Amino acid sequence: MFIGHFAIGMAAKRVEPTVSLGTLFLSAQFLDLLWPTLLLLDVEHVSIEPGVSKLTPLAFTDYPISHSLLTVVGWSLLFGLVYYFITKKRSAALLVGGLVLSHWLLDVIVHIPDLPLYPGQSPKVGLGLWNSVPLTILIEGGIFVTGVVLYINTKKGQGQNVNMRFWSLIIFLVIIHIMNFIGPPPPSVAAIAWAGHLQWLFILWAWWADR
Ligand SMILES: [Zn+2]
Repeated sequence: MFIGHFAIGMAAKRVEPTVSLGTLFLSAQFLDLLWPTLLLLDVEHVSIEPGVSKLTPLAFTDYPISHSLLTVVGWSLLFGLVYYFITKKRSAALLVGGLVLSHWLLDVIVHIPDLPLYPGQSPKVGLGLWNSVPLTILIEGGIFVTGVVLYINTKKGQGQNVNMRFWSLIIFLVIIHIMNFIGPPPPSVAAIAWAGHLQWLFILWAWWADR
């Protein structure tokens, strides 16, 4: 899942309107920001196998630090605690910690069974929505539109209109998402890892758009 995670970040704005969209994106997408760095460090591994599922040529063979349930619960607690120590806002800390965990739960819906429960010889889970292109578009698209609408309504409730910075971010996210699906498979794992780091741009962009 890609834009679905950003959608959950936008929807969360309604729960804690004072938290920046950048922070909400950072927490909802935290695992996928960690992952490319772990790929570059050769700690986690992915292989390029066109046809492994209908939606992505990536076979997520080994990612127990960024994407096992046990470590994700740990990341979630750590993220929430660090946020709490910085801001002293308890409910917002619970929210951003929960968003980190939400990433794994959403990934379970779309991934084929490649998500481990814990590092080591773990059973792997995944409901495999990625085996169906129409269902993926319907469900992830639906989540995304809902997130955008909730964000706009929250801003309206604060007496603000969303700006062009926000709309350009949305358009860019959708374009990247479509390119991921219809573009050619990435040439190498290094290319995946470097491209993955570009996602930090979305976090900064969201901070800027939400100011
Ligand atoms: Zn993920």
